Amino acid sequence: MASRTVCRTCAAQRTASRAQQIGAIATLSATWAVHYGARQRRGYAQATSSAPHDSAGQTLPKGQGMHEQRKAAAEARLRSVLQILGFTAAALGIGTLFWVKEQQNQPSRNPGGLYPDRFTPLLVTLNQLCTSSLQSEVGDSHHRHLELALGPESTPLLPEQTRDDGLEIFSIYIKQPDIQIERAYTPLYAPRDATSSGKIDLLVKKYENGEMGKYIHSRLIGQPLEARGWLKTWDAGWHPYEIDHIYFLVAGTGITPAYQLINSVLSNRPSSSTRFTLFYSAPQPASFLLLPELEQLREANPDRLRVELWAEDASSLKAHRLGVWPTIARELRGMVVREGRIALPDLRKRLCRTEPGSVVLVCGPDGFVSAIAGPLSRDGQSQGPLQGYLADLGSSPYQVHKL
Ligand SMILES: Cc1cc2nc3c(=O)[nH]c(=O)nc-3n(C[C@H](O)[C@H](O)[C@H](O)COP(=O)(O)OP(=O)(O)OC[C@H]3O[C@@H](n4cnc5c(N)ncnc54)[C@H](O)[C@@H]3O)c2cc1C
Repeated sequence: MASRTVCRTCAAQRTASRAQQIGAIATLSATWAVHYGARQRRGYAQATSSAPHDSAGQTLPKGQGMHEQRKAAAEARLRSVLQILGFTAAALGIGTLFWVKEQQNQPSRNPGGLYPDRFTPLLVTLNQLCTSSLQSEVGDSHHRHLELALGPESTPLLPEQTRDDGLEIFSIYIKQPDIQIERAYTPLYAPRDATSSGKIDLLVKKYENGEMGKYIHSRLIGQPLEARGWLKTWDAGWHPYEIDHIYFLVAGTGITPAYQLINSVLSNRPSSSTRFTLFYSAPQPASFLLLPELEQLREANPDRLRVELWAEDASSLKAHRLGVWPTIARELRGMVVREGRIALPDLRKRLCRTEPGSVVLVCGPDGFVSAIAGPLSRDGQSQGPLQGYLADLGSSPYQVHKL
């Protein structure tokens, strides 16, 4: 899930400033050409206004002078052509300068608009610590919940770019303008839902030495964040069969794509029958995000959503006896919490690989993704080999997608 990319659309800005430089150079060269042409013409006019002379200043005989005059006239024509070219280039250069300046100064035609190929400023309307039932009012200082305002016609996503069944995940990119980097974030609500509510909700983690997390956490209400989107992170059509069961194996902020998809389908697609199983891992019970929201979805859809939690250190939770003696369990909002990390035997017991229409989506820190499904490619642009627990279980690469 970690992505360290240099901002691609900053290239567009670099192109604009390069155009500006070219415009300036064209204008300067054109001015020089015009000036040079005019000087030469003045010289020629003086030369041809008097009788032809040789280099020593003696008047030449008539025939010899004609040849020199024709040569001078041809040179004068060439200079006039140069002058016209100079004027044209000057006009083009000045035009380009004005055009680039206007493009740079133009306010967004659609305030609060979001476009996949260029950054636009979205105003921060909320920036608060994430809280859960377990966290004190101080909250967890590593995670913040942000809302960004979207304009009324904020997303030019066409209906044919989205799926009716909702089986897709969209993300946006945010730019840190001072150091020209961009990072992907998966909003909690799918484009249609975000557009109708007029806001994008983000959960953002701040890493100790992480650039973008630090920057986003520091934005104040009313300040802009530059964003572009929506960009597809996953689509059911990328798998060669119909999907009826989606397993999510997630850790940390890897919960955001899982929540976007599960909520979008269970809340807004009443005709869908897709089932979801979520295995969610975190360092401590207090680090789980979106638990009240997951609890609500689970209670409303008990036969379509199963959630299991793993906390590396679950000692803060009180253990109690589960229905079947002697099983002792720890629970959080009605969801069983297992102690430790998700391990191969857990998956062997719980993942049904033989289901024909199932896929496994994996999302979390690099170490988590590598252990479960093998590393993503180094540039983060392709899936990399299927390894880890899912390979050990014999899953096929068609069945697994690392987000
Ligand atoms: C599709 C997608 C969706 C995502 N959604 C979310 C989301 O909803 N919420 C969220 O919080 N994150 C999300 N992420 C992760 C996010 O894009 C960033 O990777 C994350 O916020 C860290 O970025 P950063 O600039 O703060 O940290 P970085 O500067 O990238 O650093 C992150 C960590 O790596 C370490 N590090 C930095 N540079 C190096 C290096 N060269 N070598 C080794 N370690 C290094 C840092 O010390 C730090 O601990 C998503 C990623 C993807 C791909």
